This record gives sequence, C-alpha cells and structure tokens, in this order.
Amino acid sequence: MTNSQDLFEKSQKVIPGGVNSPVRAFGSVGRTPVFMKKAKGSHIFDEDGNSYVDYVCSWGPGILGHADDRVIDAVKAACDDGLTFGAPTRKELEIAELVNELMPSMELTRMVNSGTEAVMSALRVARGFTGRDKIVKFRGCYHGHSDGLLVKAGSAALTQSVPDSLGVPKSYTQHTLIAEYNNEDSVKKLFEAEGKDIAAIVVEPVAANMGVVPPHDGFLQFLRDITNEYGALLIFDEVITGFRLSLGGAQEYFGVKPDLTTLGKIVGGGMPVGAYGGRRDVMSMVAPLGGVYQAGTLSGNPIAMTAGLTTLRILQKEKDTIYPAIEKSTRQIADTVRSTFGDTVHVNQIGSLMSVFFTDQEVVDMDTSISSDTARYAKYFSYMLDNGIYLAPSQFEAMFVSYAHSKEDVSKTCELIKKYKEN
Ligand code: PMP
Repeated sequence: MTNSQDLFEKSQKVIPGGVNSPVRAFGSVGRTPVFMKKAKGSHIFDEDGNSYVDYVCSWGPGILGHADDRVIDAVKAACDDGLTFGAPTRKELEIAELVNELMPSMELTRMVNSGTEAVMSALRVARGFTGRDKIVKFRGCYHGHSDGLLVKAGSAALTQSVPDSLGVPKSYTQHTLIAEYNNEDSVKKLFEAEGKDIAAIVVEPVAANMGVVPPHDGFLQFLRDITNEYGALLIFDEVITGFRLSLGGAQEYFGVKPDLTTLGKIVGGGMPVGAYGGRRDVMSMVAPLGGVYQAGTLSGNPIAMTAGLTTLRILQKEKDTIYPAIEKSTRQIADTVRSTFGDTVHVNQIGSLMSVFFTDQEVVDMDTSISSDTARYAKYFSYMLDNGIYLAPSQFEAMFVSYAHSKEDVSKTCELIKKYKEN
C-alpha cells in the first residue's frame, strides 16, 4: 500500500469522502487521490516521494508557480507582525488601490474569503441596487456553492430552475434563471419574458467549469447591451480569469466592462481570498455605506493580503514577459494534443487556460462539452499521472499553466502526449 492509499483510507474515516473538496477524490477518473506534501515552482511532491509537473496549480491561484520566493518571504515577514487584527490595515488599502488600477471597473472593492462568498455577495448587492430578485446564470458555469447558484437547467424547459444539490430548497433557486452559454437567443427569451424582474446576469467571461469554453465573438458585448437595455447589471465572475487571461482579466482582454466583478484565486496569491467590486454607485449599497449587509471576521486579513498584493505586484511588474510566456507554453501543449489526436479530440485554449475534450465536436456550450467521453479522459489522465504529469482529475476542469513551467517541463509534457497510445 502506498502512503497516499494509507492516508486516503484513514481520511475517509474522519473527512467526508476523505477530502475537503469533492473533485480531489478522483471519483471521475477511478484512482486513489495522490496526497501532496509540498510544492515548488512547477512541481508538486507527494507523500510517496514522487514528483509531478503540476498543471492544476491549486486550481488557478498559482500563476507564478508554487511557493514563489518573493511571496513566501513577504508572507513570513507578515506573520511576524500578527496573523489577524479584525481592524483595517494599510495592506487592504494598497490591494484595493492596485485592483482598481489593474481593473478600472472596480471602483470600490470588498475583500472576502472565497470565490463563493464573492459571488454570493455580488448578487446580493445587485438585488439590493436594482430592487429586483431574479438573476440569469448559464448552464455549465460554476459560481461557488451558495444555494441560489447551485442550479442547472432542467432539460425540458430552460427556465425550470432545479437545484443540483440535496439540501437546497427549491424556493431558494426559483429566482435563478438558466440560459445557454454562447446562445444569445436563450438570453433574449428570458429578458423578453421577465426582463423587468432581472437584477443581473452573472457569467464566467471565459467558461472554465465545463472545461474551458471561450465566448464566441460578440457574446459578452451582447450581454452588456441587453443588461443595459433592461436596467439589469452585468456581473463578470473573474474568479478564474482575473489576472490570468490578462493582467486586467477578461474585461480587459475582450474590452467589455461589467458593472460588478468577482475575484478569487490569484487575488489571494495562494491564500483563501475572494473579492467583489465594481461601480461606485452600486458598491455604495454595501454596509456600512448602504443597506446591503455583508461582513467577515477574517476578511482582508494581513497574511492573505500580503500574499495577494505581492503576487499582483509581480504580475504588474513583469506582465510583458509573464503573459506571453504562459500563453506560448499553453499553445505548445494545445498544438501537440491536436496534432497527436487529430479530430478525435477537441482542444479549447485561450491564454494560459485550456481543456482537452475527448469528443469530435467543437465545444461551445454545456451540451457539446458533455458529449466528451469521460472514460477516454480517465485513461489519458492515468497515463499522464503515472508518468509524472499532474492534470485535473476531471474532464470538465481547466488545465492551468504557470510562469514557473519551464521549456523542459513543457517539452516533457509534449513528448509524453506524443507517445500516448489510446488503446
Ligand atoms: N467562480 C468561479 C468561476 C470558480 O471557478 C470558482 C471555483 N473554482 C468559484 C467561483 C468559487 O470559488 P471558491 O472555490 O473559492 O469558493
């Protein structure tokens, strides 16, 4: 028995499914999860002494790779000053100013502790500001595990909002309307029927939770226009895309300005952080300025702010090298997969985000994404894992490439892909 197997067996006795977040259980790839011990740069090391080139990168925060010395040193120094004060600090001001500089649409920003909290809070603000209850989300987009957002469309009717999870009362999701990603008509229909009750559209500007699915040309601008027309707000959930697709996120990349933005992952530099912010008049609804209540004991805590601030400053300073480099590495892997598998797979790649879908269809939405053969993905995943490459243990997640991935890491990855035999 390996150390990972032993730890997993013991963990299952005291932690639901042995893990603190479901995808880590490797359920959809039929393997025992690998228990990790440490990580540095592009590599992650398990409890059995194996090392892997890591393309999960903690699901997105690790854009500089793991344990960047500058971030670690800053965090260690911050620890000496105390872990949490529950009072305002200079660092909170500095990170809010920097977020505003990098994403000018974020005029006022509030720090929270996770992406889930950020989106949940942004929706409350949107509802408070507009005085409307309904929100539109897209099938296949993930915005955290708050009750009202754990909804996908019933197959019979787009507007039938059925909870994805036990324990979510149907009444909590009745205000969540479901549209199809990359499908303007599905959005138009909802607005034509219920536009005066819709507070906001929330969207991942590049969907990355049904695998990576970029928006087609004009889709985000269409969302901007229709929300303007009906007096609803546009919320970009940039938990994944923020500071990754470009320094200014998807809103800079596509040139579409949302009313509110939610952030997570990179903004915390590897610590538990989320953030939401946007238009001054809208965010002025948040307590203590306005009547929308939202609070947090550990929000904006100095250690997390130090990790985030240090990471963002490095990205800002080195943006001209970092973003082209991570895009180039990712494109090289994408091209290798395409030339190796031909049209038996479909690869979506944008910036340093990519997914290999085991389907011959072009993947543009949830239906085409779930046409993928997850058993084929599981075999590919296992082959890569056994050869020292750590990919997301699910077909429907993004592959994250970091600035720490060297030419050698990328070449090793590409060579392995070329040698892969499907049957
Ligand atoms: N929004 C998006 C787009 C996400 O990808 C995620 C998590 N991967 C969340 C929100 C939720 O963030 P968290 O897991 O930090 O609660």
